[in-house]
Amino acid sequence: MFYILCLVLCLAVLFLAMAGMSMLCMLGARLLGPLVYSLAPARIANRLFFIRMLPLFFACMVTFGFALPAFVKFEPYSTGEMVSLRLLVLGALGAFALVAMAVRAAIIVRATALVQQQWRGHSEKLYFKGMNVPVYCLDGPHSVLAALGIFKPEIFVSRNIARALSPEEMSAAIAHERAHVRSFDNLKQLLMKITRPPRWLSTFRLTEAAWINASEVAADEAALAIGASPLDLSAALVKVARLTSRPSVSKMVTASHLLPVACGSAMEVRMSHLQELLEDKNSTCPVDAQNGKSRMLLSLVLLAITYAACVNTVLPWVHEALEALVR
Ligand SMILES: [Zn+2]
Repeated sequence: MFYILCLVLCLAVLFLAMAGMSMLCMLGARLLGPLVYSLAPARIANRLFFIRMLPLFFACMVTFGFALPAFVKFEPYSTGEMVSLRLLVLGALGAFALVAMAVRAAIIVRATALVQQQWRGHSEKLYFKGMNVPVYCLDGPHSVLAALGIFKPEIFVSRNIARALSPEEMSAAIAHERAHVRSFDNLKQLLMKITRPPRWLSTFRLTEAAWINASEVAADEAALAIGASPLDLSAALVKVARLTSRPSVSKMVTASHLLPVACGSAMEVRMSHLQELLEDKNSTCPVDAQNGKSRMLLSLVLLAITYAACVNTVLPWVHEALEALVR
């Protein structure tokens, strides 16, 4: 009974923490939205990703950091407590959420790997000086310029687009794709797709669309920061937009395109942003990826120190709360 109760209780806590934090994040996204959108694009993308992933992160933290240790430490092995109907329903909801995420992850990873393998088989490798990401020229019916792949992304350029772009425009477009790879945007997309909430939780879906737009502008800025010209990148965007008329792959496939087909409105924002940078040649792109990583590392270290400092004090209270949930 000890192990069954432990499993059901952990699943129930996972569900409750995820649902509670989702509600708080939705409220927070509505209240703090204007504040987030006043930041630089890279920071907007990071904040939106954080808001989207917070419910899952918080639920894992509460379940495995507090509920599980409290149960193991304070619950007698020979416990006679039974699983109530309420606890069983909550546990089943937690199990359903976990299974749904695992199934989605398996489908997306498999679909992406299959398309990546297929495209590589119909491609010719291109060589760019100083490139650490493989670039392929793709033959076939697709009009595409994208970084494809989750764990080992590769950049694919269809032959019609490669012919249409000048060498400078191609370099600018490749620099944009490299920025997506450096920011792990495909892995972030996978995490957002597998934790995508039901349709009626529209705020989270809007957050995801806003993240795609912000990550595109951030990748443009990162491309300019490593030497691409706004003029070449704008020209590449216009040419690729003309050649790409419909999605070339299923929505399940995780890729960062030069121009995401699903987010048409981002094109206007990006063009006017590049226009501003072109007119104001002295302006510099605020790329603070390194600072962002340092801040995140510092936050994680602080979180770990806080956890280590308070865990023993908090565990008896957590156990009392668990007892209330079991009853
Ligand atoms: Zn892009």
